[in-house]
Amino acid sequence: MGYGRLWRAIVRARRSLSTGAQRRRAHASPDRTVTATTTPPETEDALFVSEVFTSIQGEGPFTGRPSVFLRLGRCNLECAWCDTKYTWLFGEPQRERVRQRVQQSADVSATVQRDWVGERVPPAYAKNEQLQRVPLSRLQQQLSQAIQGDGGVPARALVITGGEPLLHAKPLSRLLPRLFAERLTAVEVETNGTLWPHGLERWCAPPPMQQQAPPQLHFNVSPKLANSAQPEHRRIRLEVLRYFATQCAHGSIFKFVVESERDLHEVNRLVEAVGVDASRVWLMPQGTQAEELARAARERIIPWCLQHGYRYSHRVQVAVWGDCRGV
Ligand code: SF4
Repeated sequence: MGYGRLWRAIVRARRSLSTGAQRRRAHASPDRTVTATTTPPETEDALFVSEVFTSIQGEGPFTGRPSVFLRLGRCNLECAWCDTKYTWLFGEPQRERVRQRVQQSADVSATVQRDWVGERVPPAYAKNEQLQRVPLSRLQQQLSQAIQGDGGVPARALVITGGEPLLHAKPLSRLLPRLFAERLTAVEVETNGTLWPHGLERWCAPPPMQQQAPPQLHFNVSPKLANSAQPEHRRIRLEVLRYFATQCAHGSIFKFVVESERDLHEVNRLVEAVGVDASRVWLMPQGTQAEELARAARERIIPWCLQHGYRYSHRVQVAVWGDCRGV
């Protein structure tokens, strides 16, 4: 898909979920003093959606594949370097809690420490401005239109991301069959590996020699390291990680955001504890600037991959568009 066409597809898809005013708010610096507002509860017939857009997958084993992205709201973790805080960082008390955790952590990078002091502290978002509760029937229509290409080339892959998508496993297990019926062939679910994929595991991709007709579902499992400023008992659930490593062995890969040697040692320990082969592990740099990513890749991460047999993942969306939404 040419750049111009791809960009038009992105714009069309984003229009379908947000008004012009909402988009302006999303890109402007949000209110730093918002208070939490009441949002109707999610049910099995609706999902809290942050955004829907069409782009190429920018990370992991399917990098470069044209895909429709469904970004869902809410997360059960609060990673200090998270680049989608607008999906979960709602209200001043939560922001203060994360700020204090960052200040007390000896594991976060100098860049993240710097990003959580003074004027640079990330904004607290207003949940009712960032998330829309969308009934499954309406979401199905919007996604189908995007998957069919919305007048352009179809993108038959869907990336479900967040936030933490597996907080919504039940409604997703109701939505996916409807999309499969509309010739969606591949789905990636990006998860932090702390929640069971209830109801979704039945579509997990089979071993390569046992080719079966689509649909195929892949879990991109991204366990969080100490550099996220999260307590270990919240971010690591070995039984869930082992489940993805063994029960969804061909439909899941592991992806780690690494910055320092200490992060690499933590990855090595986890890989051994979970029992996953190095060829299914991707290391990815932390950062929101193209040059920052390139330097980390050159100086540390690609050499570590070569040394340990891991794969390297860039962040194409950051390298191409910078710190920007909807790409
Ligand atoms: S698990 Fe992912 S979405 Fe949730 S806070 Fe961490 S990086 Fe952000």
